[in-house]
Amino acid sequence: MTTPYYLYDLKLLEKTLQNLIFHAADYRIHYAIKANTDYKINKLITSYGLGADCVSGNEILHALKCGFSSDNIVFAGVGKTDQEISIALENNIGCFNIESFQELKVIHSIAQQMNKHANIAIRVNPNVDVDTHQYIKTGINENKFGVSIEQILELVDYIEDTNCLSLTGLHFHIGSQITNFRNFEFLAKKVNFIIDYLHNEGVEINHLNLGGGLGIDYENPTENPIADFKNYFDVFRNNLSVNSNCKVHFELGRSIVGQCGELHTKVVYIKEGINKRFAIIDAGMTDLLRPALYQAKHKIVKQSKTHPFSKLKYDIVGPICESSDVFRKDYFIEELNRGDLLVIKSCGAYGQVMCSSYNLRSQPKSYYIETENKSSLNEEIKLALPTYLSLKNLVSNNIILQ
Ligand SMILES: *Cc1c(COP(=O)(O)O)cnc(C)c1O
Repeated sequence: MTTPYYLYDLKLLEKTLQNLIFHAADYRIHYAIKANTDYKINKLITSYGLGADCVSGNEILHALKCGFSSDNIVFAGVGKTDQEISIALENNIGCFNIESFQELKVIHSIAQQMNKHANIAIRVNPNVDVDTHQYIKTGINENKFGVSIEQILELVDYIEDTNCLSLTGLHFHIGSQITNFRNFEFLAKKVNFIIDYLHNEGVEINHLNLGGGLGIDYENPTENPIADFKNYFDVFRNNLSVNSNCKVHFELGRSIVGQCGELHTKVVYIKEGINKRFAIIDAGMTDLLRPALYQAKHKIVKQSKTHPFSKLKYDIVGPICESSDVFRKDYFIEELNRGDLLVIKSCGAYGQVMCSSYNLRSQPKSYYIETENKSSLNEEIKLALPTYLSLKNLVSNNIILQ
């Protein structure tokens, strides 16, 4: 197989999905498909009854092609174009998560022209700061996302005065790769406050979408291959005070697909610099942008362990003509030689979807470790769809959680 290529472990993805729906119980989950749009991966996710969270018109079309049902698709994004709004209306998606007053007015006018009805959730910027890289914070006032708490009532009034829009609820998304659960606790408490405030103003909220953001363990992916769904949902169970007919949705991306993908690459050259030893690999920022874009650190392992006890220090860098094309600096790993195969772990989310052809690079191919007992397992699951509760029964009866 020509390197670099992506290898996806569909068995691990399936285990992750089983763990997720078990702990989510009656919470509704949408998969944020921007994290990974691979057809096989998306197909497997739809077989577990998840909805989709889309951020472009093309993602909506792709989600439909992969089998997500249209009423289970939500559409977020600060810059939805008229054409994308028409695609969404044409396909009767479940909900628009709107991010500004002007966008709401545009959706209203297009829906009127098309004689369509649109469900609207207002994306609120809760001004909750989170412990993550500044480029993946989305819920503080200086970010471009959502509307302020003070603006909600004005938008609600506007929606109520139309006959083709309905308010379905509120939407939040505070950022990504969040591992400090206090951040989610703050979000839950802020949401309680907003719901109380709206209740006092005579507005009842029956749908809440709390976004995504649950982080994964990039340092110890082998030890912790599955995100901590249990404690994540427990934070909301313990801190969110909403009445029982309020439906609570989440939109998870990274925590579902992050650990199931690896990028395999070969060492092209070893170069001794003046103060540094470089391992130049055949994967670059065009194959995996996260290190260059967010200073993200992925674990890198050598596939054949020749001298496990003698590690050397390398800067592991790509071939692209950019100084930011660095995967790890001062990284300790077994001695590397030209031709060695390296595995970059935890590349399932925001990996292949961000590939570019800069430097006229070829696009990496995808290979898969297939699921076992695929047909029998999926039949059981299909029978249980679409309700999570019956899936949960299947899981607790040990039919799908071995
Ligand atoms: C990207 C995104 C998500 C998913 O975030 P993860 O950190 O991958 O879980 C959810 N909701 C919205 C609106 C997003 O833009």
